[in-house]
Amino acid sequence: MDFTYPPEILAFQREVRAFIQDHWDDEVMDVRREGMAQLVDTPKRREFMKAMAAQGWLGMSWPTEYGGGGMDGMYEYVLNEELAAVGAPYIGKGVGIVGKTLIRHGSEELKQEFLPQILNAEIEFAIGYTEPNAGSDLAALSMRAVRDEENGGWRLTGQKRFTTSAHFAEWYWLIARTDPDAGSKHKGTTLFLLPMDQDGIQVTNMPTLGDERVNEVFLDDVFVPDRYVVGEVGKGFYYVSEALDFERFTLFTVSAYVKRYEVFRDWVRTAEVDGRPLRDDPRARQVVARLATAVEVAKVHTLRTIAKAAAGEVPNIEAAMFKLWTCQLGQQVSDAMLELAGPTGVLRRGSPDAPVDGRFEHALRYTVVDTVGAGTNEVQRNIIARRGLGLPVNNGV
Ligand SMILES: Cc1cc2nc3c(=O)[nH]c(=O)nc-3n(C[C@H](O)[C@H](O)[C@H](O)COP(=O)(O)OP(=O)(O)OC[C@H]3O[C@@H](n4cnc5c(N)ncnc54)[C@H](O)[C@@H]3O)c2cc1C
Repeated sequence: MDFTYPPEILAFQREVRAFIQDHWDDEVMDVRREGMAQLVDTPKRREFMKAMAAQGWLGMSWPTEYGGGGMDGMYEYVLNEELAAVGAPYIGKGVGIVGKTLIRHGSEELKQEFLPQILNAEIEFAIGYTEPNAGSDLAALSMRAVRDEENGGWRLTGQKRFTTSAHFAEWYWLIARTDPDAGSKHKGTTLFLLPMDQDGIQVTNMPTLGDERVNEVFLDDVFVPDRYVVGEVGKGFYYVSEALDFERFTLFTVSAYVKRYEVFRDWVRTAEVDGRPLRDDPRARQVVARLATAVEVAKVHTLRTIAKAAAGEVPNIEAAMFKLWTCQLGQQVSDAMLELAGPTGVLRRGSPDAPVDGRFEHALRYTVVDTVGAGTNEVQRNIIARRGLGLPVNNGV
């Protein structure tokens, strides 16, 4: 079995690397933001995405009839991996979640309005699934959408929380309950696209352990016209389940984890702890070798996921295994950093004795966040057990 890229993919990888160098800017490329480096949350980061759009690199795997490149998903994968490796923003919510779901289920009107804007990097999205009483068990969501027949739309009231990007996104992709009497909590929910710049929407900061911002979003009788309903009324949960499979796959790259491991490996090669070179410590060698093996496994998980997506299928068990493995790997690398560094490992960025400028301490905090967003580790295991192994459903999750 050959795990090397074919020549055309290698050529594209070189092209992306050259592009990154040509557009290098320390404010755009920042590995210290770990997984949140993917966000397009500053004007400079938007400019960078526009430059990528001009290359035709957004929507490469979309069908050509919708302005996409009609190309193998491998190109998109390589692009994201190269960007994530240097801490640059990459294609995520717009192309990967909203765009792909609209292509499969959206009306022609929605496709025409949103797909070109996504391809041109003109708009950013926030994803509104989680609520105070609906996280892992998303079907328990209680945000209400009440029919407004007179104006031809819906009125939304309720609270979302942990919404990344809500403080700068133009559009909110959110799910609400349109029929509380549908008979099952999985039914009677609908997916909407909502412009963020209107009365009745309040966004407040929720700081995370990893130093990055997420938000609480309060909606008070916010009107959404029928044209911004995604797919069929009542089928929101079905679309979101599918979109979550895209999300696990699109937003979680392996290269940032690989780079973090490489930082650790290089540190072990050169650091001294208690006056002795760490590389002479048999325990350190064991730890690094174990992690080197886990990194290779993570790369294969990614390839399995991309292979399924490239075959036109939705990679759900593969994506769950990939996310679970890489998030655990992230934590293992952080644990190993702190274990081998001893007390200095917990020093923060800016402390003179902090190894690798506090990356260890920050990574330890950030990697907790990784294991929660887009479904916790327990949820990924439930998906694997239920969909992959046919084991019984656990509390409906
Ligand atoms: C940085 C970050 C960004 C996020 N961004 C977004 C976003 O943009 N949009 C959005 O909608 N949400 C977002 N989330 C929310 C995230 O998806 C939820 O936090 C996650 O789904 C878990 O839900 P919860 O926090 O309500 O925890 P709960 O679901 O209450 O879980 C609490 C604990 O119980 C465990 N658990 C729950 N159910 C089961 C079960 N059936 N079996 C075994 N264990 C179980 C969980 O694994 C967890 O350990 C984000 C979260 C973070 C941390």
